[in-house]
Amino acid sequence: MIQSIRLPAQSKWDERQFWIYRGDLESKVAPGNKQHKLKYELIAAAQNQAHTIGTFGGPHSNHVAAFVARCTELQRQPLIVVRGETHTNLTPTLRLAVDKGAILFPSSREDYRLGMDSTVKQQIDQHYMNVHWIPEGGSSSLGTKGCLDWAMQIHQACEAHQINAVHVCVASGTGTTAAGFWASPFEEISVFSALKGVHDLKLDLSKLLQGADLKPIGICNAYDDIFHGGFGKVSSALLSFLRAFKTLNPNVPLDPIYTSKMLFHVNQLVEQGRWTSSNTLFIHTGGLQGWQGMKPDQQIYENYRLFP
Ligand SMILES: *Cc1c(COP(=O)(O)O)cnc(C)c1O
Repeated sequence: MIQSIRLPAQSKWDERQFWIYRGDLESKVAPGNKQHKLKYELIAAAQNQAHTIGTFGGPHSNHVAAFVARCTELQRQPLIVVRGETHTNLTPTLRLAVDKGAILFPSSREDYRLGMDSTVKQQIDQHYMNVHWIPEGGSSSLGTKGCLDWAMQIHQACEAHQINAVHVCVASGTGTTAAGFWASPFEEISVFSALKGVHDLKLDLSKLLQGADLKPIGICNAYDDIFHGGFGKVSSALLSFLRAFKTLNPNVPLDPIYTSKMLFHVNQLVEQGRWTSSNTLFIHTGGLQGWQGMKPDQQIYENYRLFP
């Protein structure tokens, strides 16, 4: 679904169009970009007849939430290497994962960082037969291909709605999703990194495309300074922006880590007279379950039902 939205910085007479593609509404159990990143990985797991699928994630990870949901649907056994120790009081994300049958493995931050080369993965491989492993965040060449498919679907949806010459805005963590959009027929994309210390976002995206045997197509603008005090943190400026945005667009909840920071930033550019596009499409990459990891006084959508 594509919806028209207004930004708080837009004046009454501002005729620029802002749209949002509601990836968060695509699926009840695995909303947002993560299911697209998983698509070809899960097909590969089926081809390899792997009954057990492993991945890596933090205690509030959107990737973990989508991964467990899809594994359950496909009747596969999910294994999750969790960053840091697992506490008896599991986070809501991990609680739901365990309730759905996932097996959790704690790991030290140092070992976790080694990902596919970690000791904990080697130990798991000694105990479980034929595990199909998916890297942290679903970032792989198969993940990029799945995101390209998603971008093409959204491009078609734009054409069907006669929304043409759009400037697409997408938030990035690993950049896998943004890379998929860069390889799609969209003429211009802007990428907003939620991570701190990204040195050359465009170079990272090029490498992801190369790894997936894909080529960049349109113009790509990279913004790597939108992190608001760090990944997973929300500033008070961000919270007041979200309140203003909610007043104008009551039916468009944003996630705390990615989409809200991207919209905040574009809103700021509009305010500063530095946003020239007349037709902008934001990609809502989901992540509303991330609000479960935020403090009570940081909640914006009190009445928003996260999960059925
Ligand atoms: C993971 C995630 C992203 C970032 O996706 P990448 O492919 O890692 O860049 C953006 N938005 C939301 C809501 C996410 O959960």
